[in-house]
Amino acid sequence: MTQEVTEIELAYIAGILDGEGTLVIGKHSKRENRCEAYRGYMAIANTHIPLLEYIQSRIGGKIHPQKKRYKDGICDCYTLSYSANKTRDILPKLLAYLVVKKDQAEVLLAFFERQAGNASAPISSELLEFYEECRVKIKRLKKIRYSYESPGRSELRKCSQCGKEFTWSSSNPMRLYCSNWCKRKTHWTRSNHRIAVGIPAWSGLSGIQRGEVPNLGLPPLTQGVTR
Ligand SMILES: [Zn+2]
Repeated sequence: MTQEVTEIELAYIAGILDGEGTLVIGKHSKRENRCEAYRGYMAIANTHIPLLEYIQSRIGGKIHPQKKRYKDGICDCYTLSYSANKTRDILPKLLAYLVVKKDQAEVLLAFFERQAGNASAPISSELLEFYEECRVKIKRLKKIRYSYESPGRSELRKCSQCGKEFTWSSSNPMRLYCSNWCKRKTHWTRSNHRIAVGIPAWSGLSGIQRGEVPNLGLPPLTQGVTR
């Protein structure tokens, strides 16, 4: 880092971390009951190497190909990763600009703080419990899924069939009726009306009432026709 990192650069990097990054508390089962059993860090994955190089030029880190490779051995995704110390140093500067990972970052920073104050091994079970709690908390935060329902406008309108009030909303703007029953009734009446008005005057049937089935002079349908 040659130049001081500006707040605008930190805000941009925080945005990238929100979208492409990961905050992790990893657990080494081999080092159980030791301080190093838990390790916190952050990383940013991307296929756009110049982006990772830019971030690296501002806040450091190491770029390396992702371990997961395709069948042909080609890997075009890269990870910019940070050591625990580096993460502890950088993350507080990004915190104010994070949106998606703010909660996770706060947990990770609380973890770092506790870890820094207890650097010597072995450690108490109470402390291990705290580390595990932090690890699980971050994992849970990652699993939260949000759903969004357009708030839109809504108002009381009168059903155009029966006149009863119903809640119209802009998310369903074509709704004109209080119920499906009223909708069907209207459509049924309209289709009968169409038959009636569609009959030419010369047929002598134009005086037919709306909704009435016209008598076209056809022989009546016989039930149970036998051949
Ligand atoms: Zn109605």
